Amino acid sequence: MKKFIIYLFVSISVLNLAKAESISVRNLNYDDAAFVSLSESTIESKNRMIKKNMLEEYTSPSIYSYTVKKGEDIWTIIAKTSLNIDSITTLNRFDFIGMVREEKEVFLPDTLGIFFDAREHEKEELAQRFSFNAAHILMVEDPLESENTLYFLPEIKLPFLERTYRTGVVFHAPLMGIKTSGYGTRIDPFVNEDTFHGGIDIAAEEGKVVHASRGGKVIYADASDGYGNLVIIKHELGYYTLYGHLNEISIEMDQIIETGQAVGTVGTTGRTTGPHLHFEIRRYNQPLNPENIPFFLIHGETEKKQ
Ligand SMILES: [Zn+2]
Repeated sequence: MKKFIIYLFVSISVLNLAKAESISVRNLNYDDAAFVSLSESTIESKNRMIKKNMLEEYTSPSIYSYTVKKGEDIWTIIAKTSLNIDSITTLNRFDFIGMVREEKEVFLPDTLGIFFDAREHEKEELAQRFSFNAAHILMVEDPLESENTLYFLPEIKLPFLERTYRTGVVFHAPLMGIKTSGYGTRIDPFVNEDTFHGGIDIAAEEGKVVHASRGGKVIYADASDGYGNLVIIKHELGYYTLYGHLNEISIEMDQIIETGQAVGTVGTTGRTTGPHLHFEIRRYNQPLNPENIPFFLIHGETEKKQ
């Protein structure tokens, strides 16, 4: 019993520390005072952006937190608050909009704009990229990591292509099949211990055509350790897609290919327990979860066995 009380105390104090700067919104409607103050501010901010009528000076935005309810997604939050994809995904560092999902705590700024991790960016670099006065870039305490700081560019938008990648619509399903393994930590069937799976496995009959999820340049098309016959395609903005365990590879190194073009066929090369595609999306070296692309796996799961 004593142990339990100590544990509870510790976890509550850690929680308070991490959330010190954010104001909790319970409901996205006008009977919630926190929602009222958030939405009054965001609606004004959106109107300034529409009219291209920026303020002379901005102060650091207040950060609100909201736990997504059943049936809600990023579009619910956008409709209710007037925030946009750019502000929500950059503040929370969501690779794809599908990361706004039920029961997830999402941080919401009271001013529209874009956020950047100060460990990864320089003010001057951001100022140049967005034609923004470096002296007007604000600092915000990172709601995800209390010791960290974010740079904030108020009422600035992400470039169109960058936003489009975050919606995930640029990626097409590479293969219709049955998802047999998801992204994340799982028990490796070969060594029987926890390992990180950086993609998804889609099972389908051997020889079925695998399509490029997105057009780009082929930077690898050869045998590999583990992934067997592997194709890697380089896209814009540091994104890559990987196609593993192929039977045949039907494209060549350095080839420029289009979205949907055949890259090879489903096989069992490398470490497999049956014919399937290992599919990964990476940004730079970081694997991203394709299951956070809304609708993506609906395609992948349409041919479920009866
Ligand atoms: Zn896999």
